[in-house]
Amino acid sequence: MTAFVVGVCDAAARTGTLTTAHGTVRTPAFMPVGTHATVKALHPDEVRATGVDILLCNAYHLALRPGIDLIERAGGLHRFMGWDHPILTDSGGYQLVSLVEVATVDDDGAVFVSPYDGSRLRVTPEEAVRNQARLGADVVMCLDHPVAHGTAPDVAAEATERTHRWAERCRAAHPGEGRLLFGIAQGGFDSEARGDSARFMSALDFDGVAIGGLSVGEPVETMLAMTAASVAELAADRPRYFMGLGTDSELLAAVGLGVDMFDCVVPTRLARNGSAMTPDGRLSLRNAAARDELGPIDPDCPCAACAGFSRAYLRHLFQSGEILAHRLVSLHNITHLARLMDGARSAIREGRFTEFRAERDGRLLSMPR
Ligand SMILES: [Zn+2]
Repeated sequence: MTAFVVGVCDAAARTGTLTTAHGTVRTPAFMPVGTHATVKALHPDEVRATGVDILLCNAYHLALRPGIDLIERAGGLHRFMGWDHPILTDSGGYQLVSLVEVATVDDDGAVFVSPYDGSRLRVTPEEAVRNQARLGADVVMCLDHPVAHGTAPDVAAEATERTHRWAERCRAAHPGEGRLLFGIAQGGFDSEARGDSARFMSALDFDGVAIGGLSVGEPVETMLAMTAASVAELAADRPRYFMGLGTDSELLAAVGLGVDMFDCVVPTRLARNGSAMTPDGRLSLRNAAARDELGPIDPDCPCAACAGFSRAYLRHLFQSGEILAHRLVSLHNITHLARLMDGARSAIREGRFTEFRAERDGRLLSMPR
């Protein structure tokens, strides 16, 4: 059975469905991040009610705490965290760009330093795949070696070569068992290397391929050029997943290039900082301007925060350090991105994605600063 079916195409943008052991994902899709097996501050039922189909959890963090053994004994990650829908797990590759957590990287694998107790954890490509399978992930990610923006081209090229060797080892170690395995294309900030890496990953016949190592501080134009160079060489019949993207304008630009899946910590991180995402840009609920505003964050949003509470009340909660503020704004921000993807899917189906994107970008640009 083919896991991914392309629906309607509108120029390069497309809708699709990804079928997993725990349900179907409608694409383009945004995945909230539950690093520690929870989307911060939200009950899984609330997350589901935002309209998202799939969550991202981080196998590396879960291996450190509470440990794969415990989660396996608890019946797997879905049962442990109370989420009976699709889960994609990250391998830990992304943590390789965060120097504080990495001791060494060599061809065999990576050694991470636990941020909790300083202990060392060696992760090989085989172990990364095996750990994710033991967690019960629906979509397993290969171990990759991303590099930071500004890394010397020869170092970036070496990391891409390593990513390719690791991808072959992940492919060989993947147990199948109804789980999907995604490769991760790298290539640094060189269009030709991006295309080569995407072609390499497509040839390995993964169930999907991610575009990794972007949105790490490079200019937006560079990010989109690298995305386009990657997409051009990725198989059209498999999902394409941009790792780590979560702002409206960039999401729609990537959808316009033919990307199908996204994840980002932005909606929950912004919420904790008192920032609400709206079609007209970010709204700071800590700002004095919100003090007397008795309307909701977004009058068109169906979420519980917008249905029941004013900006003034939410600002009051932030001013008072009340945890309900984090809950309500997280709920709103995730709903906002789920609705953005829903809007994109509808627009593609109706052949008006370009207009939809222009209208959304126009609203963002017209926002008074
Ligand atoms: Zn809302």
